[in-house]
Amino acid sequence: MEGLVRACAEALEGIRAEGLLKGERPIASPQGARVRLADGREAVNLCANNYLGLADHPDLVAAAHAALDSHGLGMASVRFICGTSDLHRELERGLAGFLGAEDAILFPSCFDANTGLFEAVLGDEDAVVSDALNHASIIDGVRLCKARRYRYANNDAGELEARLKEAADAKHRLVVTDGVFSMDGTVADLPAIVALCEAYDALLVVDDSHAVGFMGPDGSGTPAHHGLKGRVPVTTGTFGKALGGAAGGYVAGPGPIVGLLRQRARPYLFSNALPPAVAAATLKALDLVAAGAAARERLHANAARFRAGLEGAGFDLVPGSHPIVPVMVGDAAKAGALAGALMDKGVYVTAFSFPVVPKGRARIRTQMSAALTTDDLDRAIVAFEEAGRDLGILG
Ligand SMILES: *Cc1c(COP(=O)(O)O)cnc(C)c1O
Repeated sequence: MEGLVRACAEALEGIRAEGLLKGERPIASPQGARVRLADGREAVNLCANNYLGLADHPDLVAAAHAALDSHGLGMASVRFICGTSDLHRELERGLAGFLGAEDAILFPSCFDANTGLFEAVLGDEDAVVSDALNHASIIDGVRLCKARRYRYANNDAGELEARLKEAADAKHRLVVTDGVFSMDGTVADLPAIVALCEAYDALLVVDDSHAVGFMGPDGSGTPAHHGLKGRVPVTTGTFGKALGGAAGGYVAGPGPIVGLLRQRARPYLFSNALPPAVAAATLKALDLVAAGAAARERLHANAARFRAGLEGAGFDLVPGSHPIVPVMVGDAAKAGALAGALMDKGVYVTAFSFPVVPKGRARIRTQMSAALTTDDLDRAIVAFEEAGRDLGILG
């Protein structure tokens, strides 16, 4: 026992020595465009998944308060025993309508949705084909299923087609991709992927966690963004990002798939139901998204302004237009130093290094929010420029 504890201490020391130790900074205010840290400092926040600024929205907070009063704190049960509230079903129907799916099923998180899905629907005669940069929860979910596994290079339709050919003898084929790859902010090439899935009779699953609520003309995600709403049979996603930022996830798709998940998905069967107050707040988030064209416009305009500002300053960005704006640094220690210098200037960002991104590809992943003002962004651009110069990241 002592030996294992000592080995953990050594592993931690190794992580620290490599400059890869991830710290945690306590925030004492609600999550928002500006936050107050527990140490009293205030900062413009460029690293939350708070795309629409709903995490502290008064209407969501009020909806949660009302549901706390009407429904209590929690269900103290999984859904099938005595854990289904009217709000759960209302949210599942609301999501299905919003996403253009037949039905939807709630999970405690999208991580759980992805770890429950594949094992429940795929058997050992089936094949699953997964993008190399898919989210950790998809990787884990695929590991848990008995189907044959294939991987294709990130967003590479040519490789996807080759894998689909190799999997031609499987009973069923399932292709899974993130709608937006979270470390780069690049959008999956759904036009090519949908066409291949249709041609090779594969079921497509898109995890739209970094898109649901703000991508596409109606905010319903990457299928709508590409004009393909209705042609992506299954989507998964989170409520922990644009849709209020609390917690929870879902799978939306054909009735029989959702129905089977209610019978078989282990995180659904063996983990507590979503708190009703979170369901109520998420329903309110869907209402705001339905009337939210202005917020989406603000979000995308903020992304364009921030990208232009950083590029103008000479930073190396991952190209794109998504509100994830990654500033490439390369060296993990340097990325950490840049994040620290920015914090001192009142700009809250986080450095991402191995194992979250490949070694030598450390970066500051900034994320835009509709709640950020142009003044916030311009201040942040100046801070980046000064800190980048001081640290020799900019020439
Ligand atoms: C954030 C994220 C998840 C996990 O969502 P949670 O609801 O926080 O568990 C899953 N997939 C992708 C692509 C994500 O970005």
